[in-house]
Amino acid sequence: MGKSTIVAELRRRIPVHFSVSATTRPPRPGEVDGFHYRFVTPEEFRDLIDRGELLEWAVFNGNYYGTPKSAVEAALDDGRDVLLEIEVQGARQIRQVMPDALMIFIAPPSMEDLRRRLEKRADTSAEDIEAKLRIAEEELAAAPGLFDHIVVNDEMERAVDEILRILDAPGR
Ligand code: 5GP
Repeated sequence: MGKSTIVAELRRRIPVHFSVSATTRPPRPGEVDGFHYRFVTPEEFRDLIDRGELLEWAVFNGNYYGTPKSAVEAALDDGRDVLLEIEVQGARQIRQVMPDALMIFIAPPSMEDLRRRLEKRADTSAEDIEAKLRIAEEELAAAPGLFDHIVVNDEMERAVDEILRILDAPGR
């Protein structure tokens, strides 16, 4: 299980508004347009950038990913908490535009564990695995200065409980 399993469980357990990102990467089996991602063409993504409709965006492993601004703002205006599942370049941008955002880094228990997990994904090539491992090393190195908490993704239930405790902490 990866970061998205944790997010799916959080979506099930607490009434957060999940921000559905736009991406140019093709859907994986089982992914639903409008629920997991909004799947768009590179031209459509370019338009979102040009019209200033993204709160943040980044290129990750050759694909574009971005957070549509209006849905996040509408949910916040409604007084709801908003959950973004994004990578580190995007997290840096969120830190700039929303300094009070609570940022939690989900770390793999080890690089070997992450490799095993990526290898199990049928749609991930050997090249892709090496690229993702390199990115993960960089992300891990960037985490301490940028994130408020680091939660190790060793066991899903435990990691989710730890996140729920962070969200419930006094003073938040
Ligand atoms: P995947 O292709 O595996 O679903 O996602 C690749 C990476 O992009 C993951 O680290 C995921 O969290 C991140 N990601 C997903 N949506 C967004 C987004 O809107 N913005 C940014 N910056 N990263 C995203």
